[in-house]
Amino acid sequence: MAATVHSPIVTYASMLSLLAFCPPFVILLWYTMVHQDGSVIQTCSFLWENGVQGLINIWPRPTAIAWKIIFCYGAFEAALQLLLPGKRVEGPISPTGNRPVYKANGMAAYFVTLATYLGLWWFGIFNPAIVYDHLGEIFSALIFGSLVFCVLLYVKGHVAPSSSDSGSCGNLIIDFYWGMELYPRIGKNFDIKVFTNCRFGMMSWAVLAVTYCIKQYEINGKVSDSMLVNTILMLVYVTKFFWWEAGYWNTMDIAHDRAGFYICWGCLVWVPSIYTSPGMYLVNHPVQLGTQLAIYILVAGCLCIYINYDCDRQRQEFRRTNGKCSVWGKAPSKIVATYTTTAGETKTSLLLTSGWWGLARHFHYVPEISSAFFWTVPALFDNFLPYFYVIFLTILLFDRAKRDDDRCRSKYGKYWKLYCEKVKYRIIPGIY
Ligand code: NDP
Repeated sequence: MAATVHSPIVTYASMLSLLAFCPPFVILLWYTMVHQDGSVIQTCSFLWENGVQGLINIWPRPTAIAWKIIFCYGAFEAALQLLLPGKRVEGPISPTGNRPVYKANGMAAYFVTLATYLGLWWFGIFNPAIVYDHLGEIFSALIFGSLVFCVLLYVKGHVAPSSSDSGSCGNLIIDFYWGMELYPRIGKNFDIKVFTNCRFGMMSWAVLAVTYCIKQYEINGKVSDSMLVNTILMLVYVTKFFWWEAGYWNTMDIAHDRAGFYICWGCLVWVPSIYTSPGMYLVNHPVQLGTQLAIYILVAGCLCIYINYDCDRQRQEFRRTNGKCSVWGKAPSKIVATYTTTAGETKTSLLLTSGWWGLARHFHYVPEISSAFFWTVPALFDNFLPYFYVIFLTILLFDRAKRDDDRCRSKYGKYWKLYCEKVKYRIIPGIY
């Protein structure tokens, strides 16, 4: 059975509002950044004057070049995922007792992708600025293409599921929205969620960050320090992600959330368009910060990314060694929790209650949100829109912390209660 984490009414409301509002939002955000100087007020007054017809007029039609760029990029990433060598890695045991196996070649794919992209530019074979010039068409094509992709995932979940970690909750809308399969694959080796979340979504973040930098260079003949800080921090973050990609396969996105509209459409469309948006804004706003301020922001951002990485690393090292590791120089304090799988087997899991995980149950979201702030703040405060991602991320992670707490409470019962008594705060120590 697919797990519904919110009540059906909340699921219907969020599903319908996401379907209705996210696609136009992606287009309006791009339009405001690229054609309205980043000013929400200008876009609002345009819409006020022109109404829905105005939105239809500015909505770029997916063009052949947009499809070509998406297809070449997607095919290249799929080929790297399949062909590059990598260590065999086992994912966590699924609710029905399966253990997915992956090939950990994310870091290699990341370097090959960036080297190829920069190489194409350097040798004059392909100018990344073309991607920026066709960004609206690309987002438009992604919006429609990804919707079709999610329909295909839904059909696959019904007719050809890849494993027993699949199933319908009996409601078409919820199945489509939350997904049917936990680990959908094409053949034995091509993992669809690794492709959508990591190799298409997260990789596009790095590729677009570089694209914005190159476009600003093309316009002004130089790159502003604000753009440099933004690009470096985003690249450090994405590098950290691929460095730790096998760890990501143990997180909620992969181990708990099924492949549906929520996660797949999000990674295929929302990540390239919204997550990269502070850089998109900076292309036309070459703010000069001055060396000192630029360095302060860079150092603060790197520190937050490091702490976020260290939180994830600490939890995974603790689980991998079965608690036989050192946490902040001491033996970890822990709770030994038992739970029952859907197949009725009793299993044991360890919950870390010291280190970062003793500060709050989801402390790792604090440095995650702070790093996003630090790669946005080079845009300074002339416009509100570059901060949209930070605000969205805060809402997403506060909701996620609640979803995760609810899921863990039903998984671990009294052991989770004990954890909550020991570690009282959900995200911000002493506050929340
Ligand atoms: P994780 O999956 O890493 O952590 C939550 C899971 O860890 C729980 O479901 C539980 O799983 C286990 N767990 C909980 N408490 C403990 C504990 N005390 N000791 C050991 N295990 C525990 O969380 P996320 O997927 O949310 O985050 C992973 C990373 O991704 C973070 O760095 C986060 O900031 C980032 N992220 C970024 C987002 C973005 O859009 N930029 C969105 C979401 C996450 P189990 O069932 O195994 O016990």
